[in-house]
Amino acid sequence: MVQKSAKLILLIGPSGVGKGTILHKILKENQNLNYSVSVTTRAKRAGELEGINYFFTSQKKFDELIRQGRFLEWAEYAGQKYGTLKETVLEYLEKKQSIVLEIELEGAKALYKKKLDLEKRFIFIYPPSLKELEKRLSERKTESLEEIALRIKTAQEELANYEKINWEYSFKVVNEVLEETCQKISQIIND
Ligand code: 5GP
Repeated sequence: MVQKSAKLILLIGPSGVGKGTILHKILKENQNLNYSVSVTTRAKRAGELEGINYFFTSQKKFDELIRQGRFLEWAEYAGQKYGTLKETVLEYLEKKQSIVLEIELEGAKALYKKKLDLEKRFIFIYPPSLKELEKRLSERKTESLEEIALRIKTAQEELANYEKINWEYSFKVVNEVLEETCQKISQIIND
């Protein structure tokens, strides 16, 4: 049985909004939190590590994992597949430890509908503006111009979709100043 105090925390936000940096900081500041490393078919970016940022895999192997029913949820984003392994989440939840997922909206919707005996926190992270998001994506120099354009278009749709959501335990945070964003998120997590 999973105690109510174990939480499933979702960080949801468009690419480039700063989820990675926020995540790094809140994991450092909240030692009781664990991160669920996702599986993805997208290529490794410079500086990313296997098993730390993602488990990088091929389309074929990803599809095999789908067939085997190994994902708690999975989704396609900007032409690539991303998924959360059941075993990763269950391992921590069985130990009554909270877990953070960094995930896009379709996956979050799937998890919202799932009956899981634990507290949930759905945290939507917004950029101060689309212009600022484009600037951040360009500055991190990890995507081509084409990929950036696709991610901006996707972000526009995602932000419009977030507005339609009115879930219990959902929170909205604008990532303007990193320190303040992390403080707000830590508060939501520990509440
Ligand atoms: P990126 O390629 O920028 O690392 O991630 C692209 C998008 O996929 C981000 O919005 C990220 O939150 C999302 N994502 C990462 N892992 C997962 C996952 O396991 N499931 C789902 N549904 N989305 C994920």
